Amino acid sequence: MTSFFEEETTLFVDLILPVPVPSLFTYRVPRELSGLVKVGARVIVQFGKKRVITAVIAKIHSTPPPQYQAKYIMELLDEQPIVTNHQLELFKWVAEYYLCNIGEVLNVALPAGLKITSQSRIQLNPEFEYEDLLTDQEAIVIEEIKKHQTLSYEEVERLLQKSNITSIIKSLVGKRAVILYEEVKERYKPKVVKKIRLTSAYVSNAALSALAGSLEKNQKQQDILLKYLSFIPVYNNPDLNQKGLDKSIFGGDDSISASSLNTLIKKGIFEQFEIFISRFEEIPAGSTTAITLTETQTEAVAQIQEHFKHKEVVLLHGITGSGKTEVYIDLIRQVLESGSQVLFLLPEIALTTQIVVRLKKVFGDVMGIYHSKFSDNERVEVWKGILDGKFQFVVGVRSAIFLPFDNLGLIIVDEEHESSYKQHDPAPRYNARDVAVIMSYMHNGKTLLGSATPSLESYYHATSGRYGLVEMKQRFGNAALPTFELIDIKKEKKQKKMKNEFSSVLIEHLQHNLKHKEQTILFQNRRGYSPYMQCEECNWISECANCDVSLTYHMKVRELRCHYCGHKEEVPRTCPNCGSPKVRTIGFGTEKIEDEINLMFPEARVQRMDMDTTRAKNAYQQIIQDFEVGGIDILVGTQMVSKGLDFDNVSIVGIFDADRMINFPEFRATERAFQMLTQVSGRAGRRADKPGKVLIQTANPGQKLLERVVLNDYIGMYESEIGEREKYNYPPFSRLIKVTVKHIDEATANRAAKVLAEKLAGNLGLSRVLGPQPPLVERVRNLFLFDILIKLEREKINFKAAKSFIQEKVIDILTDKTLKSIQVVIDVDCL
Ligand code: ADP
Ligand code: ZN
Ligand code: ZN
Repeated sequence: MTSFFEEETTLFVDLILPVPVPSLFTYRVPRELSGLVKVGARVIVQFGKKRVITAVIAKIHSTPPPQYQAKYIMELLDEQPIVTNHQLELFKWVAEYYLCNIGEVLNVALPAGLKITSQSRIQLNPEFEYEDLLTDQEAIVIEEIKKHQTLSYEEVERLLQKSNITSIIKSLVGKRAVILYEEVKERYKPKVVKKIRLTSAYVSNAALSALAGSLEKNQKQQDILLKYLSFIPVYNNPDLNQKGLDKSIFGGDDSISASSLNTLIKKGIFEQFEIFISRFEEIPAGSTTAITLTETQTEAVAQIQEHFKHKEVVLLHGITGSGKTEVYIDLIRQVLESGSQVLFLLPEIALTTQIVVRLKKVFGDVMGIYHSKFSDNERVEVWKGILDGKFQFVVGVRSAIFLPFDNLGLIIVDEEHESSYKQHDPAPRYNARDVAVIMSYMHNGKTLLGSATPSLESYYHATSGRYGLVEMKQRFGNAALPTFELIDIKKEKKQKKMKNEFSSVLIEHLQHNLKHKEQTILFQNRRGYSPYMQCEECNWISECANCDVSLTYHMKVRELRCHYCGHKEEVPRTCPNCGSPKVRTIGFGTEKIEDEINLMFPEARVQRMDMDTTRAKNAYQQIIQDFEVGGIDILVGTQMVSKGLDFDNVSIVGIFDADRMINFPEFRATERAFQMLTQVSGRAGRRADKPGKVLIQTANPGQKLLERVVLNDYIGMYESEIGEREKYNYPPFSRLIKVTVKHIDEATANRAAKVLAEKLAGNLGLSRVLGPQPPLVERVRNLFLFDILIKLEREKINFKAAKSFIQEKVIDILTDKTLKSIQVVIDVDCL
């Protein structure tokens, strides 16, 4: 059948679905939407039989898919794109580089609030009449539906106080009593304020006088009018009426004045209206005293700009306390003035509140903040704020690189060496620092990497000329770097001077500091009370049922916890194996340090800062504030205390267990330990008049790495390490790809990993494929793991081709019928 209308071409859209599928999906555009679809806009589609999901349009065309009948899109959500072309390009790059699906990138990029969810709801079947067929519980459900028209699953669960209601719902459907349907709803809700104002008829002085007179008989209504006028002096300036007054000023909805107010609204004297407001506190820019850059800082800014004339990336290597933030601020201001956007990345925002507050004071409302402790709604507001030009400048954590920028002039990656820029799970397993470099390139912008302890990779690129290098070697205000003391705990133990985990030297310094009201930071990079419990009689050790690790003892909550899978157990009173009461804790974490200080110095105000004490949204900020105003004497923490904190009054930093970091069996251990120790130490003595001291407890004070930390000899560390890396062909001389094979059965996992490694080595060469071997923790969440490490030289090898070969071989394994339910994870540039 040919008809006249077929002349008009049918439109199709290729969609990115936020699910792990390898390709785009083609859907058909209903005729009424054909003029409205745009690349980057969201649509709702049916995916599979049951799911309704949000997808983003990547392409519009008129070619029907050859293999399948395209379904219609159900709804178009946006008139204007919410994903920019730059983003689509970036998502594609990330998917290709990190060997994952573009849908997985979209899924991480899009805040949950922009993804529509569908919710099953239950509604009465209008044709239902056999009420006597119902069981008691079913009857309760039906009664409730009659009251509310419809119910969600959760509402039924609450009603019946049961968590599994599927059988009841099934039965109701079977009896044709109810109908199920999907309700699609947008999660993002703008924040709304209800306001009132005078209707236009009353916005003149004459009308107002007349009104006041006519209300004389009604005291309450007159009060409302007068209150309104006291806030909004319409007499003086009629324009003020337009903005109105928050309705809440007159009390809640059931207050006495509310009813009078409603009468006034009904009479047409006042009118009610709503406005959308931002969830973010409005701070005007420039609400801070201007800072003059020092000569060193001015020089650094000039050098960075000079490098940017020829180079895409500059590394700013400035020691702790050198004043890098002010250098960033100067550059950001210039780029914003030129009309381009700026992105400032931080490892973990919560951990750097001080910088954020400083930036907010300088840049005010043009600055958006984006991090993991924000609610969905807040994230959507940042996203939309960038799209509509409100936020020209964003400070955020790694996922902020996926925000909808369209004109980035500069990306700053502060503390660029931090491993938290790398996402481990789920895919995309990206490193935001590296993606930032590509992204600036796509926008024709520049990248500035900053650190006191650069990653070997970045420093290598900077000294080999690929990046520009700018150094700041003095602390601001000529404050001295702290002095060090290495405390030999082996010796102290022999002389019986140690008190539990504390050396006598550290105790003396703590006493001195408490007496002089100066603050101390104590660093132990392990949370909980102790990493395991052990029976003295039979050597039983607390172990996780699902993972191959010991359970950490948490004293306050009286629990044993697995730090890998979250498994929790009660603390046994006696040994579960032999019944002996002699169960003791071994090793120590932050909680034990805190406990011991409380025992030794009951007068000291101690606060612990680790993942366990900072789960709540503002917990971290609260601790920082308390410490800042002197409400805390001793701050005990994990690596959280090492990041970017800037306090005036910290004169002692104590470091426990330095050897564990240094001896970690991993090729980056030396680099990492140097970075960690230097960063923590950098929290001490940041004022010129208050020199700081760092006390490191170690069993081996003579080791080279500690000497380098003490001398702040980054270059020495770099040179010896880079030699090793070159010799053994590790990054930056090669790229590493880790392929992890997982299976519930150890032998199957091992066999699959061996087969895979052989296939890989067959093509890539034996020297490039290491393993398989079990990782440090061999079993996690009941899955046995085997790692294959692939080293690919930077030169000589076609990285792209090698990667697609690896991907092919992995797919072979995944689709091998003899290896049921095998899982394989590919991590490109694993850390
Ligand atoms: P870094 O990030 O390099 O460790 P910061 O940027 O935190 O160092 O600066 C260290 C301290 O010096 C901060 O308290 C900062 O306010 C102060 N500071 C830096 N530059 C200046 C300046 N030009 N004028 C006044 N104070 C400054
Ligand atoms: Zn025992
Ligand atoms: Zn576990």
